[in-house]
Amino acid sequence: MKHLKIPMMHDKHIALVAHDNKKRDLLEWAKFNRDLLAHHRIYATGTTGEMLEKALGFEVVKLQSGPLGGDQQIGAKIVDGEIDFLIFFWDPLEPMPHDPDVKALLRMAVVWNIPIACNRASADFMISSPLMDDTYHRLVPDYEDYRTRRLEADQPTASPDPAPVR
Ligand code: PGA
Repeated sequence: MKHLKIPMMHDKHIALVAHDNKKRDLLEWAKFNRDLLAHHRIYATGTTGEMLEKALGFEVVKLQSGPLGGDQQIGAKIVDGEIDFLIFFWDPLEPMPHDPDVKALLRMAVVWNIPIACNRASADFMISSPLMDDTYHRLVPDYEDYRTRRLEADQPTASPDPAPVR
C-alpha cells in the first residue's frame, strides 16, 4: 500500500482528554509541561478543557463534554486533519456510558497514524521527544484503493433463471 506524508508542523494541534478519575493526573501533567504546551494549539473535551484553561492560563479550544459527543468531535477533527496529536487518559477501571465513542476515537487515531498517549508515562516520553519541536511527516496509508474498491453491487447482475417450461 502506498503512503501519503502528512506534515505535522512545529506548532501542533494537540487534543487532551481525561476521564473523571484521571483528570487530576492530566492536570498535574499539563501544569508540569505548561511551557512546552504553550505554543501548541490545545483542544479538549468540555470539562477537561475548562479545568485545563484555568490551570494553564491560556486558551483551550473546548468541545462538548465527552459523554455528550466530545470524543466524537475530536475523532472527526482527526479525520479532517485538524488534530494531529492525542493525549487521552482513559480510565481502565470504570465502565463508561460512552464506551463506543472512546473506542471510536482510539480507532480513528490509529487509522490516521497520529501519536496517542493513554497514560502519563507515554505522555512524558512523547512531550520530551526531539520530534515535538520539529516538522514531522507522518505516514498515512493512501486509502484511495479502499475508496475505489469494487463492491458486489457494482457487478452486473446475473440474468434471472428462465421461467420453467410446463
Ligand atoms: P469531559 O469528557 O472532559 O467533558 O469530562 C471526557 C470524556 O469522558 O471523554
